[in-house]
Amino acid sequence: MAISDSPATLALSDVLAAAKRIAPLVRRTPQIETEPLRAESGARAIHLKLESLQNTGAFKVRGASNRILSLTDAERARGVITFSTGNHGKAVSYVAREAGVRAVICMSEHVPAYRAEAIRALGAEVVIKGHSQDEAEIEYVRIRDDEGMVPVVPFDDPWVVCGQGTVAVEMLTCNPEIDTLLVPLSGGGLLAGMAMTAKSIKPGVRVIGVSISQSPAMLESLRAGKPVAVEEKDTLADSLLGGIGVENRFTLPLIERYVDEHVVIDEPEIEAGLYYALESHSLVIEGGSAVGIAAIQSGKVNVRGRTVGIAITGSSVDISRYLEVVSKFVQ
Ligand SMILES: *Cc1c(COP(=O)(O)O)cnc(C)c1O
Repeated sequence: MAISDSPATLALSDVLAAAKRIAPLVRRTPQIETEPLRAESGARAIHLKLESLQNTGAFKVRGASNRILSLTDAERARGVITFSTGNHGKAVSYVAREAGVRAVICMSEHVPAYRAEAIRALGAEVVIKGHSQDEAEIEYVRIRDDEGMVPVVPFDDPWVVCGQGTVAVEMLTCNPEIDTLLVPLSGGGLLAGMAMTAKSIKPGVRVIGVSISQSPAMLESLRAGKPVAVEEKDTLADSLLGGIGVENRFTLPLIERYVDEHVVIDEPEIEAGLYYALESHSLVIEGGSAVGIAAIQSGKVNVRGRTVGIAITGSSVDISRYLEVVSKFVQ
């Protein structure tokens, strides 16, 4: 199975092929309407797409399964490797186990033990090496090259982009009247895939990327016209931390081409978004998931009269930090 090696020729057909390929490993997550935010914003309707209920707790399983289920027999025999510790690492571990492929996940000594345990529990081999993510990456490169393992990267890959794009297929199939999409943005695999998909299905749809003020790497790269590194600060939305890769080939050009608007959300707004999901729907979501709600709640995006779809991307929380945040809102 082939896929284009150029962002310019990726197409809706690649995303529809992905949807079919990944169906056995991916849940068709529910999409629910949310009323208080609709009333407050004057929107016609607001739909939350609950990828927080996706297998492994985040949408990342879509991209990972599209990549791993497309491997040739020779590649399957060599196994897959990545160095992400968060939702992508979990997704790769889960998909590899289901597909019967060996998986190695590299991480540094500083990654909390519970994260390593979560990945081991899904069946992957965890390699802990070095004092930083950069040192863990050096080990990743060494094993990849020595053992010829196949890298599964978190966002800048055509298979991954098309896998993430399947979220938009489901949203627009479930609610064809959606005319505005709000999508959390970090490395941009999700936004690139969803924007390309949505614009191909419904060209008039308005696609908005939502970044965090603590790590707006894609936004600064768009402004500079090339990938730039940003200094990372502590954030509740830890899934949105990180750069876009100095050799970015796919997500930057796709986002430049297909995305209409960008907004940036700060920490108090993320906290309010988290609390909104809990109070209104008894939903526990992670910080990186709350930014779409926050974009409307804060008044930074005007959705009056629109039919909105928001990607609620994941539910991996550090429970004690989560409880600390939401308890601030309880009198
Ligand atoms: C990875 C992730 C994102 C951002 O996705 P990108 O493709 O890196 O932009 C958003 N939310 C959650 C929960 C994630 O795990």
